Amino acid sequence: MKTKDIITDLGGKTEVPDFTPTRAAGLARLELFAERAGEVYDRCRNYDLGPDQRENVSALSPWIRHRLITEEEVIRATLARHPFEKAERFIHEVFWRTYFKGWLEHHPTVWHAYQVGLRRQIKSVDRDRRLAASVTHATAGETGIECFDAWAEELVTTGYLHNHARMWFASIWIFTLELPWELGADFFLRHLMDGDPASNTLAWRWVAGLQTKGRPYIARVSNISKFTDGRFCPTHQLNTNVTALNEEADHLRVPLPDAAHADDIAGDYLLLITEEDMQIADVLPHAPAAHIGALATQSRSPLPLGAVAREFACGAMQDACAGSDVIEAGAWLEALITACRAAGVTTIVTGYAPVGPVATALSDAAPRLLAEGIKIIQVRRDFDTVAWPHATKGFFKMKKEVPSILQRLQLHQ
Ligand SMILES: Cc1cc2nc3c(=O)[nH]c(=O)nc-3n(C[C@H](O)[C@H](O)[C@H](O)COP(=O)(O)OP(=O)(O)OC[C@H]3O[C@@H](n4cnc5c(N)ncnc54)[C@H](O)[C@@H]3O)c2cc1C
Repeated sequence: MKTKDIITDLGGKTEVPDFTPTRAAGLARLELFAERAGEVYDRCRNYDLGPDQRENVSALSPWIRHRLITEEEVIRATLARHPFEKAERFIHEVFWRTYFKGWLEHHPTVWHAYQVGLRRQIKSVDRDRRLAASVTHATAGETGIECFDAWAEELVTTGYLHNHARMWFASIWIFTLELPWELGADFFLRHLMDGDPASNTLAWRWVAGLQTKGRPYIARVSNISKFTDGRFCPTHQLNTNVTALNEEADHLRVPLPDAAHADDIAGDYLLLITEEDMQIADVLPHAPAAHIGALATQSRSPLPLGAVAREFACGAMQDACAGSDVIEAGAWLEALITACRAAGVTTIVTGYAPVGPVATALSDAAPRLLAEGIKIIQVRRDFDTVAWPHATKGFFKMKKEVPSILQRLQLHQ
């Protein structure tokens, strides 16, 4: 398919997404895109036509990642306009996120191993000048591989990359530049507005051949040239003779941690809004005595967060908290105790925090809050409770269950 045919399919317009970090902007983007979530998405989604031509994908990931708009809202809007069969492709993509979240909940040691590996690689960079120079060239977009350099710059300046570009970039990072995968995953996590512990870590592992063991993703010139419609045709030799990475650790499956249901909430409470679910108030049975917003975004990495990702998270939190104070990781404990005392409550209610920096901050704070007579209740949405147990083996097992999951959630007949 040629660019001009795709643009015709899409109505002939070019389109730069407006990534304003508000719920209103996310809903506006959903409204704009939902019409195209059926056959048009199915036909055109794989093309990366550049930062000013994003009409073939939803570009909703920054809002969905913070749950400023929810997966459920996205699926409802899609099914209001298309029969399931026509929008199946798009709904499955949304479920890739659900799958990754559920899979990491069942295999939390993967996140911990990534954290340990990342810290080890950061130390190697401090010791090894050649490695340091290679990483600097890669992240500054100075490798001489034109497409890779352009995506590095796009990531840092816009905070977003098309899915296909993410796959090619990760593959070139690991197999052509031969850089440690953890440093590449960290570069993404620090700069993507949608940077997510589950989707990012597991996708990098998938490219490396660690997730689907022994089956790495290979970036090929012909594929890049076709799906960028000739914007890039790397003359630089890409390594296609690759061997999957391997690891010694065996990540055992564990049961889903316990969590409360919204109906369990009784009495007065302080609502804690985090970047894991900024709309959790919508499912709670009654209003809180007070609310507070807390970010753990900087804890995504030991290295500084990219400006675009940080600004999206801060803006989104300010929008979700309607202007009240936002606290940063490190200052949570004091701020939560003060806020509980000011509101005269001894219960904090928050959205369930899946594996990642928020979950770590909550589990660090919980015993010390308890010592002050304050308990934290994490409320898990029905969407996650119903879907996550299906993240067992590969995605294709969950995919088969999507119609019944949607039925149970009353999102589809
Ligand atoms: C190496 C690598 C790293 C990635 N890191 C992240 C990340 O940190 N955060 C993140 O949200 N996604 C990540 N992805 C998945 C995917 O690339 C993005 O979700 C998608 O490109 C976001 O753009 P969109 O909203 O236009 O997607 P669309 O194609 O419009 O899809 C709609 C929604 O479905 C979900 N989705 C789509 N594809 C995937 C996928 N492959 N995996 C998980 N969810 C998906 C997203 O929530 C997305 O907003 C990564 C993929 C790769 C290959």
